[in-house]
Formats: sequence, C-alpha cells, structure tokens
Amino acid sequence: MQTSSPSSPGAPAHALMPITARPPQVMVRGEGSYLWDDRGTCYLDLIQGWAVNSLGHCPPEIIGALTAQAAQLITPSPALHNAPQHALAERLTSLSGLAQVHFANSGAEANEAAVKLARKWGMQRKHRPYEILTTDGGFHGRTLAMMAASGKAGWDQMFPPMPTGFRKVPFGDAAAMRAAVTEQTVAIMVEPIQGEAGVIVPPAGYLTGLREIADECGLLLILDEVQTGIGRTGALFSFQHELAAPDIMTLGKGLGGGVPISAMLAASRACCFEHGDQGGTYNGNPLMTAVALEVLNTVSQPPFLARVRAAGERLRNGLAGMRQRHGFREVRGQGLFWAVRLADDHANAVTRQAFDAGLLINAPRPDTLRLMPSLRISDAEIDAALEAIDTALQSVARAS
Ligand SMILES: *Cc1c(COP(=O)(O)O)cnc(C)c1O
Repeated sequence: MQTSSPSSPGAPAHALMPITARPPQVMVRGEGSYLWDDRGTCYLDLIQGWAVNSLGHCPPEIIGALTAQAAQLITPSPALHNAPQHALAERLTSLSGLAQVHFANSGAEANEAAVKLARKWGMQRKHRPYEILTTDGGFHGRTLAMMAASGKAGWDQMFPPMPTGFRKVPFGDAAAMRAAVTEQTVAIMVEPIQGEAGVIVPPAGYLTGLREIADECGLLLILDEVQTGIGRTGALFSFQHELAAPDIMTLGKGLGGGVPISAMLAASRACCFEHGDQGGTYNGNPLMTAVALEVLNTVSQPPFLARVRAAGERLRNGLAGMRQRHGFREVRGQGLFWAVRLADDHANAVTRQAFDAGLLINAPRPDTLRLMPSLRISDAEIDAALEAIDTALQSVARAS
C-alpha cells in the first residue's frame, strides 16, 4: 500500500470523499489578489475562496484580529456573553437598520435560522401560514431544507424524503410572485442577485415590488445576501440600491473575509425567537466575530464602497470592450460581481485554460464565466485579469 504524509506536496487526496473535481495542485499561500500552489506557481485569483475573501487573501486586518483575539479568548461558551459578539451585533444592526442578529457559521445555517424564524412568526398568525416562496435557479445552501428551498433543477428531490414548505416562482418577475401567494404563504425568500445561477440581475424595481407584495399580503421578505452582502455589489448591503428593506436578511461569505461566520438579521416585527428555539456550539464565538468586526469596519467606509464601484466599472468596461470580438451574449453584474455569457458552452474549457495560465475564474454554467475578485483588487490587477481572460478565450476558440 502506498503511503504519503499529509504534508507531502501534491499528495493525492485518497482520504477525501470525492464531492467535486479539483486540480491536483495544492494551494499553500495567499496574499491580496494572489494565490500560490506547492509548485511555486502564482495565480491571479478572481474566485477568492468563492466570493469569501472580501479583503483579499490574508489581509493584515484579519491576521491582526485573529492573533490578538486568539491570545485573549477563543470560545467561552455559546451560553455566555463575549465582547466581540456584542460589538459586531451592534455594528450590523446599526448599519442595516434591522433590530437584532443571530450568528451562525455558514450561509446555509443562517438561512435555516431565517426559515425557522419565519415559520415561528407564521405560527403566531391567524391562518398559521408556513409556506415560503423561493425562486427558480435560486441558491440557498446545501442542508436538506436549503436544497429544498433552492431552485436548482432536481435539487429538491436529491436526498428524499426532503423537507417541504417551499414553492418556486420564476426569478425577476414580481407579478408571478404576487400570483403565487396563497393563504399558506408566510414569506418570500430571494437573492437580490442570483449568484450561483450565474449572476442573474433582476429588472430594476424587483425588490421594491417584492417589498410591496410582502406589505400588502402580510408576508415577511427574506433577502439572502450571503453572496451579495458586505460590499460585493458596491453597496454594503445589496438591498440598499433600491431601499427595499427586508424583514429578514442573511449574510455569510464576505462577512468573515475568509473565516466561517454568518448572520441572520431581522426587523423587530419579525424577532420572535424565544429561549430554546435556536442555538449552535460555535455561534457568535469571539474569534470569528472579532474578525468580522474588522471586515465590516473596513468595508462599510464610504470611500471603500466608492472604490468597489469604480473598480467594478473598470472591470465591466473591459468585459464590454471584448464583447464584440468574442461574441459575448451578455455582460451582467454589479459592483465587483460580474458574469459573462459566452456564445457557446466552452466556459469550463476557458476556466481550465485560464488556470493553466495563472488566472482563477469560475464557470457557474457551461456558457457562463463568473468573476468575484477581492474588493481591494487594483486597476493593474483588473487589467491583467482582463488580458488573461482575453487570451484564454482566444486559445479555446482556436482549439475548438
Ligand atoms: C454560498 C451561498 C449560500 C450558502 O452558504 P454556505 O456558507 O456555503 O452554507 C447561501 N446563499 C447564497 C446566496 C450563497 O451564495
């Protein structure tokens, strides 16, 4: 039998369950927009841990918060108070206008908490509504209930029996949402921009429309801002572009800047949890909340968000400039969250070609490339990424 030490470079990952295809390289170091593998190859990273590293790889703020907090207190117990959790809760509620927050460790877990809160709120209403309207193509995570809530084809039947109480409506269509409301409906749950579906931006006014429907029909509006929140779209929270305030909002990914933390926030009318309703061993631990506080204090600065919008413009203009040459069907996105719809189904070949040339980009669909860089990406890095994308598209076009 072949043995290999876990630290040997490039060791095949026999001991890992095969849940996704990964290139053989082992990533060993990151800094800003760059990632290095065990062979010394450097990659310009426009995936950033899956839109997670909002401040880039290993930013000094996070290193500082982690080391200082680790030396002070890592986990007292979820049943005891800690200071970073209080500070982060205070900042998040004052910046979002929502009343209270519950911390968790992943986006799916925050969404589970949102669904529990909405169902509890529904149980206190006259008709005891429970159903949550979600959207075709939507993505809310990989727990059983969140797979049932997601609108990826086939996902709501993959591991039967699946939790029920979710119904799918076409995304971006407020009239369809209104028509789907019944006496059983308690909430509408959407992403402000669908991320995993390939950065699908709804028509202007969609969120405002959903807000009106929720108000008229007495429903809760749940916004899953796990991917769009924390500056990704050029506003701290995506709903702020339309001033369509949610009753419940979930955050994850960029909130921790690379460490696992998520949050579920709610307006006071929806805050109905009582003791015993929700919990979790690591929820709100000071190590993660201290990091998220640093991330939030950085990203929420108006000049930081203005730079995200300016960088996003540069990226968009660059992609738009290639549109004719490569026959892109669409360039869509907002802030530093962009996708390109190609003329053909070669997106996976393009990401492989880009990887070999030292650029990390993602293909959420066979015909779609997605870019989710560090919110600190520089103009020079944007230009280098655009050039590398151009080159990768050219070589795939030549080869096919
Ligand atoms: C990534 C994502 C999730 C799930 O987050 P995890 O941390 O992977 O559980 C939920 N909703 C949206 C919109 C996401 O992009």
